[in-house]
Amino acid sequence: QTHFLSHSLQAKMSRPVQARRLEGKDKNIWVEFAKLAATYSKVNLGQGFPDFPAPDFLTEAFSRALSGGNHMLHQYTCAFGHPPLVKVLAQFFGKLLGRDLDPMTNVMVTVGAFQALFCCFQALVDEGDEVILIEPFFDCYEPMVKMAGGTPVFVPLRPNPPKDGKLMSSADWQLDPAELASKFNERTKAIVLNSPNNPLGKVFSRGELGLIAELCVKHDVLCISDEVYEWLVYDGKQHIRIATLQGMWDRTLTIGSAGKTFSATGWKVGWAVGPDRLLQHLRTVHQNSVYLCATIAQEAMAQGFQRELMLYGKPESYFVQLPKELQKKRDWLVQSLDSVGMKPIIPEGTYFLVADISQFKSDVPDVPNSDEPYDSRFAKWMVKNKGLAAIPLSAFYSKAHKNNYTNFIRFCFAKEEATLKAANDILQKWKEEKNSS
Ligand code: PMP
Repeated sequence: QTHFLSHSLQAKMSRPVQARRLEGKDKNIWVEFAKLAATYSKVNLGQGFPDFPAPDFLTEAFSRALSGGNHMLHQYTCAFGHPPLVKVLAQFFGKLLGRDLDPMTNVMVTVGAFQALFCCFQALVDEGDEVILIEPFFDCYEPMVKMAGGTPVFVPLRPNPPKDGKLMSSADWQLDPAELASKFNERTKAIVLNSPNNPLGKVFSRGELGLIAELCVKHDVLCISDEVYEWLVYDGKQHIRIATLQGMWDRTLTIGSAGKTFSATGWKVGWAVGPDRLLQHLRTVHQNSVYLCATIAQEAMAQGFQRELMLYGKPESYFVQLPKELQKKRDWLVQSLDSVGMKPIIPEGTYFLVADISQFKSDVPDVPNSDEPYDSRFAKWMVKNKGLAAIPLSAFYSKAHKNNYTNFIRFCFAKEEATLKAANDILQKWKEEKNSS
């Protein structure tokens, strides 16, 4: 009897438990590299988060919200955003986008930009729809498109190294206009734009955005504009919002992240801003999945935004101060990498920097015909043997194109001076060992 029972139980368990849409999506670069960094790294310049504190005005706002006597802040708030937060986001983005925004219909608060992205794909993409992704891209776009039943179509930024031997800039990575145009057809539902771009730090120019906008209008395509690094632009560059270009407001969802904006990535507060005709469908996804986001974090972020609205463009504004601080850190890491021969590509924005590892290849032998791109093995070797964590650039490419760019790794420079110095010490020592061997 027992034998019969266990046999039949076993038979029942042989059926696959996972839904088909999960196929091929079980591996995740961040899970893998976060584990490696936790196990081996002495200095972690891998995943994108600051190791310096969030600003005092923000953490104080959180403390006030937590223990300030309004016990209702411990309860549910409105599904699509805590009223003070959607109100100030509507004012703030209304100013940036040059239009009146309705807090209830033009703004939705999400669990980080990540959930805003997920809502976009679930709400807008159907079986058979194509979604254009510009390579290299923040890796979650691809599985999210596929989980919605869509087909990602890739178009690369192509590097044009400067001829004068100068360091490359992220601006030297450009779209080929004809190639981009060739990806648009009657099946194209949306294009994802990420400016400033993770991982390169490219800040798309008005001309480049104009080209994308023209194609979107011509082919009636939607634009999911991931602008989480909107305040992190350097050298006097300007971040241009594609939703402000002619014909684009009605077809664009602009996504932001308070985590990136206020150096508090663990709070996971993000948003989508756009026309009601698009946002109403994001609300349908949101109300049937997450429903609402943590009230206290939203209350504190609302206060952070009220402060920034008041100080807009002034030297005391955090959105003015943060890029200034980060530009110094960028320059420092650029100089450090350049001095050891790990050629950096100077980013115009974000807190990432991509560097060329070609001169270090002799230390990490290639394995011919391996499935794993060289830069991935290099990054794993580096964290295990040198204690320095970074992310391989190939992680930001589709499977078919992963092996086109395998000589680069990405560093995050939103780090304390001591962390960047410790990274420099590792690199300098490594270079000395190379020179003496
Ligand atoms: N988009 C991009 C381009 C990112 O780099 C990140 C975070 N690394 C996100 C979205 C997700 O942001 P959040 O932490 O607010 O979910």
